[in-house]
Amino acid sequence: MLRILRHGFAVLLLTLLTQIGGLAWLLALALRRFLPWSGRLVFLALFVCVYAAATLVTHQVAPLFGRMPLPCFTSASLTVRTSFYCALNRNYVTPELKEAAEAFADHMASSFPGTTTLALDANFPFVSGFPLLPHLSHDDGRKLDLALYYRDDGGNFRNGETRSPLGYFAFQQLLANSPQPCADRRRFLTLRWDLAWLQPLFPDWDIEPERMKEALRWLSNEGRNHGIEKVFLEPHIPARLGISNDTIRFQGCRAARHDDHIHIQLR
Ligand SMILES: [Zn+2]
Repeated sequence: MLRILRHGFAVLLLTLLTQIGGLAWLLALALRRFLPWSGRLVFLALFVCVYAAATLVTHQVAPLFGRMPLPCFTSASLTVRTSFYCALNRNYVTPELKEAAEAFADHMASSFPGTTTLALDANFPFVSGFPLLPHLSHDDGRKLDLALYYRDDGGNFRNGETRSPLGYFAFQQLLANSPQPCADRRRFLTLRWDLAWLQPLFPDWDIEPERMKEALRWLSNEGRNHGIEKVFLEPHIPARLGISNDTIRFQGCRAARHDDHIHIQLR
């Protein structure tokens, strides 16, 4: 009984984290009887092999189901922040969103030569309505998070880098006169975590204002021609850059903070 519960928990966790990981676990369970060895380490090794094979196959077949992988290992203008997202199959978008993200990244690279645009969490490869936790709305291939552009203490642009290893959770500080729409909200039943204990671990970089300004301008203007309908960002960032546009919106006080990344979504 305990074994069934343990395997059930593993399948559930892997499915929530990677979508195909739960199936890979079940397949590894079915295949292990054909191995001449036994033991937990042997099973784990078998699972890793099955999962890696399933991930490679997914990369090839997901386009047949309307999802394209964003590039994991490339020096092109658009790349996924860390191969960790690719290993967990969290880098899939519709062909339209891939085209929009590439057009955006190409524009940034031509406006600021050498600039790499970093993609963070996207969507899973299969099935609409399957959310990529903790992003409840990333469930149809039409949502993508992009990293902010940063500069360090010396004012140097940090190309291809983010303040935190995953690109999330390093929140930008508000200025004294910044809009603070959630200041008097109760912190109850909310995904709006400040993670204050984590902040000292990250370098104290600021956003790179020229690239950020151009990014928001493109996303909310030319981006519309590529189907971009909404850009979610904490209001203090467009406010300090002097940008205001219907497309750039506040995600609300119950959703996660959006001053560590930019969320874009298609119509
Ligand atoms: Zn998002």
